[in-house]
Amino acid sequence: MPVAGLGPYDDQNIFAKILRGEIPCRRVLENEYALAFHDIAPRAPVHVLVIPKGRYVSFADFSAAASETEIAGFFRTVAEIARTLSLETPGYRILSNMGADSGQEVPHFHVHLFGGGPLGPMIMSGHAPG
Ligand code: 5GP
Repeated sequence: MPVAGLGPYDDQNIFAKILRGEIPCRRVLENEYALAFHDIAPRAPVHVLVIPKGRYVSFADFSAAASETEIAGFFRTVAEIARTLSLETPGYRILSNMGADSGQEVPHFHVHLFGGGPLGPMIMSGHAPG
């Protein structure tokens, strides 16, 4: 079920449980700004989720409420992970779903990092340019 990406943070969401170590994950990297782990249902040869340590519901919430240090530290970590996974030369894609139309399912801000092969069109819908 898609979530709104707005409103109060739910401490029982699945990524909050992963952050607290209550649910296991295949960890890629952890630092003071972020935890990165493999998506449980990968949509590309490499599909890593990067989440901030703080309690942010979505990109909208993170960009409005996080400190500049948290924002810079988080996005530098996303880039560091891509480098560490040797994705810079072949290329990669980052994506963040925000709210109902995007299909966001987990109400803890996260960036998807895709790579490991040609990724196809940016958006899969049949939406025609107007
Ligand atoms: P969203 O649709 O919110 O942008 O993406 C949520 C992502 O979280 C999905 O790609 C989904 O496969 C992944 N996911 C959901 N539950 C789990 C889980 O328990 N562990 C891991 N590693 N990924 C999960």
